[in-house]
Amino acid sequence: MKAFGFNLQKTRTYEIDTTHSPCEELEHAVPSFRQCMFCGSCAATCSANSHIDFNILRYNLLFRRGTRQEIANDLDNCMLCGKCSLVCPRGVNTRAMIMEMRKELQTDRP
Ligand code: SF4
Ligand code: SF4
Repeated sequence: MKAFGFNLQKTRTYEIDTTHSPCEELEHAVPSFRQCMFCGSCAATCSANSHIDFNILRYNLLFRRGTRQEIANDLDNCMLCGKCSLVCPRGVNTRAMIMEMRKELQTDRP
């Protein structure tokens, strides 16, 4: 079969209602967090992502899924430049989102 540069994967179902962890604190501090539609524009534009392995969309998803401690150190690499906020089509204040995630994860660190 001719390769097109990508592979098709089996269909997967993701139950947001049952697999997402509560994010009340973050939603309260940054209400626009709820508006994310996971388009990836923030990650594609990210200044940090141009230089290192840093994917804000991935951290957003992992935070929602409750896999939080493994992203605590990664989030420190954000430069808080705000470029991601400028391109977000849903008006998510991603810069504030990152700062709030850092704050919440900081309190959990040993
Ligand atoms: S650009 Fe906005 S809507 Fe798109 S994934 Fe990032 S935060 Fe979500
Ligand atoms: S604020 Fe952070 S996540 Fe957003 S573009 Fe800048 S470095 Fe990337």
